[in-house]
Amino acid sequence: MALLEFAQGLGVTLRNMFRPPTTIKYPEQRRVLPERERGRHVLHRYENGLERCIGCYLCAGACPADCIYIEAAENTPENRVSAGERYARVYEIDMLRCIFCGFCEEACPTGAITLEPILDISDYSRGPMIYTKDMLLEPPRNLDDLAAEASHR
Ligand code: SF4
Ligand code: SF4
Repeated sequence: MALLEFAQGLGVTLRNMFRPPTTIKYPEQRRVLPERERGRHVLHRYENGLERCIGCYLCAGACPADCIYIEAAENTPENRVSAGERYARVYEIDMLRCIFCGFCEEACPTGAITLEPILDISDYSRGPMIYTKDMLLEPPRNLDDLAAEASHR
């Protein structure tokens, strides 16, 4: 009896040995995620480099997990950061609380925040899981990048 079960088990092993693997060698290999996958947040800029976020708090108000913390400040002629009256001086998301619902993206009137198909979100302690504005804000694009994008349109 035991021999029969052993042979059956071995059969399962042999059948699967010649099937293509379903796993990948992450992080060297990455799966192509659907365009609308809701992963890590990104704060965006306009093409002229100004930040899209105007510190209106609508995303924080819409967040069901209460994980967005914002401190807004006024733009001045000497220090214009965003295209509106105010900008987010502090913008933080507690990624441990986020449920990736996308309500923040829906609520944003300027398209400042989006959830991108990026799933590399982990760490060994709680502190680094609070993503700060420096981590979330996309870098300013330089003129060469803009010219290259325009030539592909
Ligand atoms: S995705 Fe949902 S839970 Fe996460 S920050 Fe946005 S509104 Fe909050
Ligand atoms: S990300 Fe959008 S909704 Fe949130 S504070 Fe900035 S402009 Fe307002």
